[in-house]
Amino acid sequence: MKKNLESDFVKKMIYDELVEIVGAENVSVSEADKICYSRDAWPKVLMWIDLAKKLPLPDYIVHVENKEQVSRILKLANIRKIPVIPFAGGAGACGQVVPIYGGIILDVKKMDKILRIDEVSATVTAQPGIIGEDLERELNKRGFTMGHFPASQYTSCLGGFVACRSAGSLSSKYGKIEDMVISMEVVLPNGEIIRTKTTPRTSTGPNLNQLFLGSEGTLGVITEVTLRLHPLPEERRFKAFIMKDLKTGLETVRQIFRKGLRPAVIRLYDELDTVFTLKGKLQIPPGACYLILAFDGEREMVDFEDKQTTKICLKNEGKEVEKELAEYWWNHRYDMYFPHPDRTKMGLVADTIDVVTTWDKLEDLYYGVKKAITDRHPNVFIMSHFSHFYPEGGSIYIIFAYQEPDREKALQMYTEIWNDGLEACHKIGASVAHHHGVGLLRAKWMRKEYGEEGFRVLQAIKRALDPNNIMNPGKMGFE
Ligand SMILES: Cc1cc2nc3c(=O)[nH]c(=O)nc-3n(C[C@H](O)[C@H](O)[C@H](O)COP(=O)(O)OP(=O)(O)OC[C@H]3O[C@@H](n4cnc5c(N)ncnc54)[C@H](O)[C@@H]3O)c2cc1C
Repeated sequence: MKKNLESDFVKKMIYDELVEIVGAENVSVSEADKICYSRDAWPKVLMWIDLAKKLPLPDYIVHVENKEQVSRILKLANIRKIPVIPFAGGAGACGQVVPIYGGIILDVKKMDKILRIDEVSATVTAQPGIIGEDLERELNKRGFTMGHFPASQYTSCLGGFVACRSAGSLSSKYGKIEDMVISMEVVLPNGEIIRTKTTPRTSTGPNLNQLFLGSEGTLGVITEVTLRLHPLPEERRFKAFIMKDLKTGLETVRQIFRKGLRPAVIRLYDELDTVFTLKGKLQIPPGACYLILAFDGEREMVDFEDKQTTKICLKNEGKEVEKELAEYWWNHRYDMYFPHPDRTKMGLVADTIDVVTTWDKLEDLYYGVKKAITDRHPNVFIMSHFSHFYPEGGSIYIIFAYQEPDREKALQMYTEIWNDGLEACHKIGASVAHHHGVGLLRAKWMRKEYGEEGFRVLQAIKRALDPNNIMNPGKMGFE
């Protein structure tokens, strides 16, 4: 994509046009803002910054307040062929908002209203800029929960969750965000506004919600979302077990799902993550794996689910340990982010690889990715947990870390670790992303993930909706 903003005259003209749409107080061209809006939480951009590499900067930061403004801005950008990057919390993990061709950062955080709570149908309609925790608290006041608790709950917004297909800690019961979305409003790249119907189900052809879910700002701007709600549970009960090894732990979880049980939390830690998480609070035999469970719902349902699940854990030689350990995890799950450690200064690099597959391949995926990474880089520290399960399988959250004082080498190593890990994942037949999305990080994997023919379909949709490629260009492998 070629930037169409070469001359100062054109830049000033577009600035004036943006000001006409949203007011001068909502358009920034300050260097400080440009720097702040040039990155998200992708570790690679932090490494670039540390190496004093120049990040691509946007030309304008625009704060929108309603869909009409979004529509007018997209019309303008489409005529002038200027990139537009929707921006919500800026906590994406894969470089989704990095403005690699400059253009307009479209910050949606002023669109943060709850528009309607339908208590009869148990739905909420809200704007994309509302922070996850703010939405949840308002729903709680009305006796509802979304059931969506990602670790970025305090920093990410509804629009970002939907655009990245995010997952929260209670996903085993309440699902990922794509299981919660009922309908949405989207401003298309040409400025047209579409709205899908709020209905429990339809049989009217393909589902457009699913097209925009996970589109990462490449197909349009989401301006409203209607979501399914759940009653606040009467009780949330925690349990903790030590399983003798990973194989048994995974088999136990598979049996729990096979029985139709749906604990809200299921977190199974591998041996190293068990040691890391328990921090010496328990004496555990080598190879043992820590399993956290939580049950949500009416007390009698919780009693039943707890009893049945516990039976399965004990049958698989699980040892029940103090439930306070699990409660501690829940109550302190955000602690590690405050304050966010500046790891790069210590020459330490850490990131997480989220991958997902069916039960028959889950162990192969776990060992395969680990082996692929450590074959080339034996000193990389790797630990994992499994925290999002489905009747058909589950995801693995692979945490890797290494210390490399030479920053250029550290960057090279980072790229190799991701390449080796995802290549192994692809060969095993697993999906290369469970909830962090694609952005720049996984762009080159999209053709492998979909297959050449499948990706051509996706690319054709992108071209049909966005022939001038103004929406978040350079992301998700789109050309
Ligand atoms: C500490 C930390 C913990 C995290 N934990 C989790 C976790 O538990 N689960 C999880 O799933 N993810 C997690 N993430 C990743 C991240 O929070 C999610 O990807 C989240 O969905 C991003 O939302 P955001 O509001 O920050 O979006 P942004 O980073 O602002 O944007 C992400 C993408 O969405 C697009 N977008 C944003 N708003 C719109 C809109 N209105 N219309 C169209 N496109 C839009 C952007 O263009 C971009 O491509 C974590 C990240 C961090 C830093």
